[in-house]
Order: sequence, then structure tokens, then C-alpha cells
Amino acid sequence: MSSPRTVLVIGGGAAGNAATILLRRAGVTVDLIEAKDDWNATAGSGITLQGNALRVLRELGVWEQMERSGYGFDSVGITAPDGTVLHVAEDLRTGGDELPATVGMQRPHLQRVLIDAVRASGATVRLGVRATFFEQSADNDGVTVRFTDGSESHYDLVIAADGLGSTTRAAIGIQDKPEPTGMAIWRVAAPRPSGVTRTDLAYGGSAFIAGYCPTSESTLYAYVVEAKRDRATIPVDSYADEMRRLASTYGGHWPEITAHITDPGQVNYTWFDRMLVEGSWHRGRVVLVGDAAHCCPPTLAQGAALSLEDALVLTEMLTSTEVWDDALFQAYYERRIARVRPVVEASVQIGQWQLDGVRDADVPGLMGRTMTMLRELP
Ligand SMILES: Cc1cc2nc3c(=O)[nH]c(=O)nc-3n(C[C@H](O)[C@H](O)[C@H](O)COP(=O)(O)OP(=O)(O)OC[C@H]3O[C@@H](n4cnc5c(N)ncnc54)[C@H](O)[C@@H]3O)c2cc1C
Repeated sequence: MSSPRTVLVIGGGAAGNAATILLRRAGVTVDLIEAKDDWNATAGSGITLQGNALRVLRELGVWEQMERSGYGFDSVGITAPDGTVLHVAEDLRTGGDELPATVGMQRPHLQRVLIDAVRASGATVRLGVRATFFEQSADNDGVTVRFTDGSESHYDLVIAADGLGSTTRAAIGIQDKPEPTGMAIWRVAAPRPSGVTRTDLAYGGSAFIAGYCPTSESTLYAYVVEAKRDRATIPVDSYADEMRRLASTYGGHWPEITAHITDPGQVNYTWFDRMLVEGSWHRGRVVLVGDAAHCCPPTLAQGAALSLEDALVLTEMLTSTEVWDDALFQAYYERRIARVRPVVEASVQIGQWQLDGVRDADVPGLMGRTMTMLRELP
């Protein structure tokens, strides 16, 4: 009997964790390395998981845990800055009719569920470890990797799931880097006012967007999107004041939420980035998944969803053939780029219309077309 294939997964975020769980299920030997010592040192805000993300999470066997700890809903509200509800739209169930359109979750809960599934899968996990060196043999039979803990191993394949600042991407000679789109977001977790049962978005007012998403019976995360500023000019200890200043101009549920924006340590400030690696997502036996290959502003809340889909598609392809070669990895790229490109472009476009002050842009039309495409299986 031939020995099982060996894969190194670099990065224990959504994409790396999903790839690990699915490969282990197929009997592949997986080592996962994660740079952080604390694997769940995730910023305390929330995440909006659309149906196509939930479909992958169900495939991973963790849907029941998601359903228990998150908050599912099927519509989105558009409000005026004063909180007046202008329109409520049914959201498309992109993961199929049996899953809600959206589940809001606290990020640490999502990560905890995935970590538990990785641990249960039997993968070897090393925390606080990075790869420092990759050597690929000329006959393409695998990759020798050296690690910061001084060890060295040989793998049939390396999956780079090390996020948008991926050093693996750079190490294999892919030059793409994330670029700021011009927008930035303030995010905070807060108690859920009882009337908040879906995402509401206010366009305009003192910022481009003010929104919130319930993440459990008792919590939500709230966000305000504005033009990016020089981070060096915003002291970290002023984060709560900065976000509260913007948020306090909004009505409806906002005054109740704003009252909880008091601790600068709980407020996260991030620029929006975009990146799309074109041509191929591999070099030899090192292949990119998730934000390492593409990222987009969260105007459609699709970054993690696409990253989970990458992991599903790649592992499906890897486990349905004996031959891991250029043609297979190119086919993975072709299959993913056809779906990822329109999402990245639409996500960037929606933000650009706001930056340009375009008032009559067909945002609902673009969102509708993109989400309809995402209902198809990846
Ligand atoms: C403001 C904002 C809001 C967002 N909101 C949403 C949303 O609502 N819905 C949604 O679907 N998506 C959202 N996203 C996108 C989503 O967060 C990402 O697309 C997703 O986290 C990508 O997953 P990943 O596993 O590819 O990368 P990451 O989650 O970045 O994970 C990469 C992991 O690799 C580790 N790592 C890095 N370098 C190394 C190394 N050299 N060696 C070992 N480990 C390494 C990191 O520590 C990290 O744990 C949002 C993004 C932003 C910026």
C-alpha cells in the first residue's frame, strides 16, 4: 500500500482550517503551521457569513455549531441616516433553500469551531511557527520546507493560506500585493438591541455607510465606513472616541449601540484592500487559497466565503485524482477565477461609486447579479 500524501498548510484562518479538515477526511497527512502563538487571537468583532459560506461550513460538519452560536436571518434593511427604514429586501439564499441567507457570528466563535474541528481531524498543528525556506525539486515531486523552530520536512504539496500579507506568495515569486481602495472601517462588538434582527445599512450621513449585524441573541457588531486616513494620525487610545463621533450622527438603533463604544481596545480600525492574483495561483507544488490569492472590500461580505470555497474546490480536486501536477493546479485556478473575479470587481465597484459620489448607481442590480451567480455551486 502506498503511504498517504503529505500536505503542509500554512495559516490557520478560515481557508487553512477548512483545507485541513477536508484533506484529513480523505486520509491525507496534514501539518498545519500558524504564525500566532494564540491561534484564536482574532479581533473581537463579528463576521457576516452568506449562504455560500454556510454551505462550505456545513460540508465541514460544523453547521449545527454555527447555527447554535450565530444569528441567522434572511433580509437586509436600508435606512436613512436618521434610522427611518426606507426599504427591506429579502436576501437571496446563496447556499440553497435549506440554509439561511446570512448568519452573523462573533469572529472568535467561528474560529473556535474551526479550531476544534481541525484538532479533531488528527492534523498535526504547530503554533508560533513560520516557514523560512522552500525548495522545490526539478522533477516536481514536492517541496522541502524549513521552519523557524529549526526543523525541516518534505511535503507532496504546500497550501499557502497565510492571508492577504502572505509571505509564501512572495517567496514563490508572485509579486501581487494588496492595495488600499481608499476606504476604511471602524468596527466594534456591542450588545444587541432587541429590535435588531437583521443587518441594516445607512448609506450617507457623516460616513459612507453605517451598519450592524446581529451575531447572537445577545450581541451584534457595528461598523462605520469612511475615507481612509493616515493611521499614524489616529492615536489608538482615541479609537472609541473616533468611532463614537461618527456613529453618534446616526439614528434608529444607533444611540443604543453608540452608548457602548467606550473602550478603545475593543474598536478595530482597518483600511479596505483589494488584490487579485491573475494567471495562476501556484508555482510548482505550492498553491494559494483564500486572501493569499485574492481580497476585496467587505461591501458584499464575501471574503471568507470565497476563501472557504477555495479550500473546498482545491481539496475536492486533490482528492479525486492521483496526479498532482501543473494541469490540476491550473484547472483549480480557472475554476475559481471565473467566480472570484466578478465578486472582487463588484465589491470594489460598490465602494468606488461611494468614493466618487455617484448617487444613481445600480447597487441593488450589481448585488443581485453577483449573489445570483454565487448561488451556483462553486
Ligand atoms: C474589515 C473587514 C471585514 C470583513 N468582513 C467580512 C464578512 O463580513 N464576511 C466575509 O465573508 N468576509 C469578510 N472579510 C474577509 C475575511 O475576513 C477574509 O477574507 C478571511 O478571513 C480570509 O481567510 P484566510 O484564511 O484566507 O486568511 P486569514 O483569515 O487572514 O488567515 C491567515 C492566517 O495565517 C496566519 N499566518 C500569516 N502569515 C503566516 C505565516 N507566514 N506562517 C504561518 N501562518 C501565517 C495568520 O496568523 C492567520 O491566522 C472582511 C475583511 C475585512 C478586512
